[in-house]
Amino acid sequence: MGLFSRKPAYCTICNKQITAHKYKAKREWYGVKSPLCSDCHLDKMQEHYDATLIKKCMTCGVKSKVTDLWEPRLQWDMEGLLCKKCFDEKELEFNKKRDFCGICGNKLGFIRYNPKNHWKIKGQLCKNCWDEQKAQLDKK
Ligand SMILES: [Zn+2]
Ligand SMILES: [Zn+2]
Ligand SMILES: [Zn+2]
Repeated sequence: MGLFSRKPAYCTICNKQITAHKYKAKREWYGVKSPLCSDCHLDKMQEHYDATLIKKCMTCGVKSKVTDLWEPRLQWDMEGLLCKKCFDEKELEFNKKRDFCGICGNKLGFIRYNPKNHWKIKGQLCKNCWDEQKAQLDKK
């Protein structure tokens, strides 16, 4: 009798044979079929959880799904997530700032100077300000 013969089960995602517990795919995971191994089940749970997770935009505080929020760019030196509107604004602001000296605010030409890390100055500098900073901060 074939009733008790155990057919090996394979995870529908990674195709590994499932030796331990077989997990069922949830109905809301569109297109995912059962059974799943524990790893893939966990992955899917996490994925789905992340997609429904609501977080706040760190600038304006609007609440939105994590999947609709943007990660700030690396050079903005920010933590957290931004809504699309704030992301766009920030990008604009950042691009604008990039064209002006971080100290005197004069428009930078083609040649611009990066402040040294320990000067703790954001943005780039014109030659005058850079020379000044160097004279002030880097004197022995
Ligand atoms: Zn799997
Ligand atoms: Zn926002
Ligand atoms: Zn300047």
